[in-house]
Amino acid sequence: MTLWTSDEAVAATGGQATVDWQVDGISIDTRTILPGDLFVALKAARDGHDFVAQALEKGAGAALVTHVPEGVATNAPLLIVDDVQNALEALGKAARARTGAKVVAVTGSVGKTSTKEMLARMLSDQGRTHAAVASYNNHWGVPLTLARMPAETEFAVIEIGMNHPGEISPLACQAQPDVAMITTVAGVHLEAFADGIQGIAREKAAIFDGLKAGGTAVLNADVETSAILRAAAEQSEASSTLCFGEAASECQIKSIKIQGEETVADILLFDQSHQLHIQSLGAHFAMNALGALACVQAVGGDVAQAVKSLALWSPVKGRGARFEVALPEGKIVVLDDSYNANPTSVSAALSVLAATPCTGRRIAFLGDMGELGAQENALHQGLAAHPDLDKIDQIHCIGPLMKVLFECLPLTTRGTWHETSATAADRISDYVQPGDIVLIKGSFYMQMARLVDGLREMG
Ligand code: ATP
Ligand code: MG
Repeated sequence: MTLWTSDEAVAATGGQATVDWQVDGISIDTRTILPGDLFVALKAARDGHDFVAQALEKGAGAALVTHVPEGVATNAPLLIVDDVQNALEALGKAARARTGAKVVAVTGSVGKTSTKEMLARMLSDQGRTHAAVASYNNHWGVPLTLARMPAETEFAVIEIGMNHPGEISPLACQAQPDVAMITTVAGVHLEAFADGIQGIAREKAAIFDGLKAGGTAVLNADVETSAILRAAAEQSEASSTLCFGEAASECQIKSIKIQGEETVADILLFDQSHQLHIQSLGAHFAMNALGALACVQAVGGDVAQAVKSLALWSPVKGRGARFEVALPEGKIVVLDDSYNANPTSVSAALSVLAATPCTGRRIAFLGDMGELGAQENALHQGLAAHPDLDKIDQIHCIGPLMKVLFECLPLTTRGTWHETSATAADRISDYVQPGDIVLIKGSFYMQMARLVDGLREMG
């Protein structure tokens, strides 16, 4: 189905089309481009203009460029603009303006992608739903997601992220959400915020800058900075604010338990009781689900139906997915949370490990947590004070920062220390045995997925 014609793209961007063309998708990467896509020649580590010829050879329907690149015919299907990034944003805004979709934007220190995926799963059972791919949440990910939104979309779910102050507001203004949600506020990217957690909360609350008049702000009532979030919502265009969490009244968690391979939560949503069944382990997933259900209500969706859809959702690879490695003498259960880590999510994951029934040992492999600034040593050391530490049999530490944790762990819990995930992965079969349940977690750059691969190879 046609996503953009050259006339529509010219009207949106003020650019010039070399010939008439139409495209049915958008790509920024020639490795994954599909025939019929518009190739957007963004400048990152390399200049996208160097890949236009290749994109056209692979069947791109057109390319968005500032000039005709070398080796490309002047009558090739192009849209020539002054600035490719600005033009992508203009396409995103035009896509937003032409659709009648109810748009939900999700931000937060952790849980954005998990919540976005839950929302997409629930809403897609109730209408034509468009959602961001992976963690496409930054200066190119948000406009790309918007520009890819078909005109006839009924629900859209956009992820908005940040590494530095000032990033969220302009992205939220592009998305113009009907509902803007903050999953949680935690000490992630602390190094970029001189005023610490308060500064992070104010930055997250900037998502409300983009809310459409009459929109709904959805926020986590349990975080210590909830008053900052609430005040920002009140100053925004939001006509209502929904709070979720233990401390909330409209969207409240009553109880959470881990039952076999799922998390079961009893919730009260606008005076109706529901039981949530989530195929992923952890109270934090129940909190994300509760916030997502508040968003479903806010876009006019059917909450009871959404609860049923939620039971069919499964977590994204590397973000709490559980799998088993079958060995002749029994199985090893793996909690693959290898995608990323910060003090909040590591703490949540250790609680899951501690609460999961197990016939053998509970073992964690923890890699360094990055981007924590001056407090990095203290935050790594702080994990030794985790309330459930006594329920965990062994913690193996990986990376120079985790050495600090390693050195202060009680000897009974202390496993091994490795400089890198590569050396730990090589030896993983020495550290685990049938019956064990094994958590793998660390910041993305630590490549903890190598350990997950190592465990899979044992089977
Ligand atoms: P990124 O900034 O990398 O895009 P994200 O905000 O999209 O991250 P997710 O990918 O959903 O976050 O989750 C990352 C990890 O954070 C999960 O694997 C899980 O361990 C943890 N997590 C998810 N939600 C929460 C939550 N509400 N509270 C604490 N930890 C959470
Ligand atoms: Mg994400």
